[in-house]
Amino acid sequence: MKKKVIIAGPCAAESESQINFSAREAKKRNIDFLRVSLWKPRTKPGFDGLGEKGISLLVKVAKMGVNPATEVIIPSHAEKVIEAVLTAAPTVKVLLWIGARNQNHYIQQEIARVVGNEKRVLLMVKNQPWPSLEHWEGIIEHVLHGGINPKNLLVCHRGFSPNGHPNPYGYRNVPDYEMARIIKQKFDLSMLFDPSHTGGSIKNILRLAKESSKHSFDGMVIEVHPNPKIAKTDAKQQLTWKQFDDLLKVI
Ligand code: PEP
Ligand code: MN
Repeated sequence: MKKKVIIAGPCAAESESQINFSAREAKKRNIDFLRVSLWKPRTKPGFDGLGEKGISLLVKVAKMGVNPATEVIIPSHAEKVIEAVLTAAPTVKVLLWIGARNQNHYIQQEIARVVGNEKRVLLMVKNQPWPSLEHWEGIIEHVLHGGINPKNLLVCHRGFSPNGHPNPYGYRNVPDYEMARIIKQKFDLSMLFDPSHTGGSIKNILRLAKESSKHSFDGMVIEVHPNPKIAKTDAKQQLTWKQFDDLLKVI
């Protein structure tokens, strides 16, 4: 069986000490990519990431031999991150992702074009917030149309907004495992699952991580913070590294 890809780390990069600590924990566990997001789409104004001034933190992570992963909002973010990380660390990979709220197909295509055929760059696309097979297919088609090498492309299921749908466990977003299976099969791409943004709480994350591991996902994206109580974003859904270790035992 193919090894599952694990992307873990803070929702957002907040400070140098937070990222140093996280990179050391990621290195100890040999995880595939450290989540260290520099840009954060938010529902309401607030901390929306360190932005470009955080690129030096990604470089630091890469120099420690850990592969960084960040959301990018516009193509110039992708260009700047790729250039900085690939030149600073000759062997690491970098993973960029397009988030659920970034539903402008010109931008999706252009980010895909920037990634293109870069050997050490992966692009992950998350599904849109509302449930629609057609729209989810469309995002992937737009990204492929942008000219990315499909070998550089991953998909991530982060659930759909529960508005009006049965939601007995109070998930932040409700998973649709069947739709994820259809997409994975149709495009023959690796499909990861994000129990953090689906679950929205520690209890739900553990439940969903376990449940989703019975489906054919190729990996997971999990939010882990050195001290979740003081996290600047998504404090309720970030695990400690100890909780992350416990989660890995049940998946
Ligand atoms: C994220 O992964 O940081 C995020 C905001 O999730 P989503 O785009 O799935 O809402
Ligand atoms: Mn988050």
